[in-house]
Amino acid sequence: MSRPIPTEEAVRSALATVIDPELRRPITELGMLDTVSIRDRAVHIRVLLTIAGCPLRDTIMQDADAAVSAVDGVDRVEVELGVMDQQQRDALKDQLKGEGGRRGIPFNDPGSLTRVYAVASGKGGVGKSSVTVNLAVAMAAQGLRVGIVDADVYGFSVPALMGITQQPTRVDELILPPVAHGVKVISIGMFVEGNQPISWRGPMLHRALEQFLTEVYFGDLDVLFLDLPPGTGDIAISVAQLLPSSELLVVTTPQSAAADVAERAGAMAAQTGQGVAGVIENMSWLELPDGGRLELFGAGGGAALADRLSATLGLDIPLLGSIPLDIALREGGDTGTPLVLGAGASRSRGELLAIASALTRRPRGLEGLRLNVSPR
Ligand code: ADP
Repeated sequence: MSRPIPTEEAVRSALATVIDPELRRPITELGMLDTVSIRDRAVHIRVLLTIAGCPLRDTIMQDADAAVSAVDGVDRVEVELGVMDQQQRDALKDQLKGEGGRRGIPFNDPGSLTRVYAVASGKGGVGKSSVTVNLAVAMAAQGLRVGIVDADVYGFSVPALMGITQQPTRVDELILPPVAHGVKVISIGMFVEGNQPISWRGPMLHRALEQFLTEVYFGDLDVLFLDLPPGTGDIAISVAQLLPSSELLVVTTPQSAAADVAERAGAMAAQTGQGVAGVIENMSWLELPDGGRLELFGAGGGAALADRLSATLGLDIPLLGSIPLDIALREGGDTGTPLVLGAGASRSRGELLAIASALTRRPRGLEGLRLNVSPR
């Protein structure tokens, strides 16, 4: 049987499987496929990049080449790269912002189905960022569309924990976040030179966060995590104002003093009207070679915090899990490969995966809030 001559239709439908790495949509839907020409078994395609210096040009080119090469009857593929003109870019931006060029924070749209979790802690160093990245990566591995906003302005660490060195791409005023382990990540750390400390004041922080939420293109997300700075500072208040439907996840160690300060972070929710999705205890104990547990930071802080928040807020705030100390968790952070991605059973990975599943199953936003009324 003779091989078929490839058709333009077959080539176009093969290219519909090529996903733009940043926008996470098929290039054919984004106006990036300019022309397809076929001569005998040689296919020439022209793909338009959003901007000239697109950092992912090689990936797009290789993916397009591979997709067309796999079409039945194709012997030779040539991928030519071009760049969108202003009109084409404007059309793309309009498409991304939704019909009519929506403004404002997309997660506040009445129809938004994105669950927004603001991860808070009373003080630094309790593992808030490590927990955030592991939960996000675990959810992405389950097939959810996940984003992280690293709003820990003084101690931004999410890019390093995720192994991201790439900068966001700017398409005019639209910012495309880098993607790592299936998660879209934007961090204040991506906008400062080197590793400079930041000494911004409240209004500037509020503006920066607002800009992240309006100008960064996350697309449709199932879950957005915000990694907050420790404490009850300006950013936590800004988050409550900018994303009123966000819910807090409070991370603490088992130490009672740590749980006390975390309670202030959680109790702020009562003032701002934010929901609290639950408490996560981290660094709960160290597993000893004989199977025993060394409770380095004491015990019971997470459960005590959940109880106290339940009493303060008049709602049932669950302790979602207790994550032991684990060298592999720290190493995963140091190498930019979150622990949940590894293989093998460990208690800490098991807890993180279980918390991620519990958060995924929870009904979102208001549906999950139990009101203080009982039927008569
Ligand atoms: P925070 O965001 O609260 O400041 P980080 O997530 O940056 O805290 O964690 C602080 C340090 O503790 C990091 O070096 C991290 O790798 C380590 N760490 C966090 N949780 C654990 C854990 N369960 N076991 C071992 N090391 C941990």
